[in-house]
Amino acid sequence: MADRNERPGTFRIPKNARRVLDILRDAGKPLTAYEVLDRLRPLGVTGPPTVYRALDRLVKSGLVHRLETLNAFVPCDREGNHAPSAMVICTDCHDVIEMQNDAVPGHLYSWAEAKDFSVTSLTIEILGQCGRCKAGRNTAAEGG
Ligand SMILES: [Zn+2]
Ligand SMILES: [Zn+2]
Repeated sequence: MADRNERPGTFRIPKNARRVLDILRDAGKPLTAYEVLDRLRPLGVTGPPTVYRALDRLVKSGLVHRLETLNAFVPCDREGNHAPSAMVICTDCHDVIEMQNDAVPGHLYSWAEAKDFSVTSLTIEILGQCGRCKAGRNTAAEGG
């Protein structure tokens, strides 16, 4: 199951979605739709609907995850469609770690099922301060 057998071309990404994905990967931090649009302007893309459509497509294909708390988007390292277990977000530097622990959402789904509640959407976002920010090491990059 854990085959890394992705053949290029098997999964076709439209041009604008590919550009948006590249921008998110280069950014190294979560970007809002408007921040993405700002970076697309030099490439001739000026319409917010284009960006929203591309983001929507990327989120649905699992290549990008939407952070509800920040109203921003981050790229996913894993290929294939999956829901993240939990997103751990540093509120100082906006560093994001995608937690891969299916026991966490699994527990919530079983709980909901026991209450006869049908889950249509489940988002777990953990906010706090990362180790570097806590140590004050993210405030000044000392050339190193
Ligand atoms: Zn992911
Ligand atoms: Zn941080």
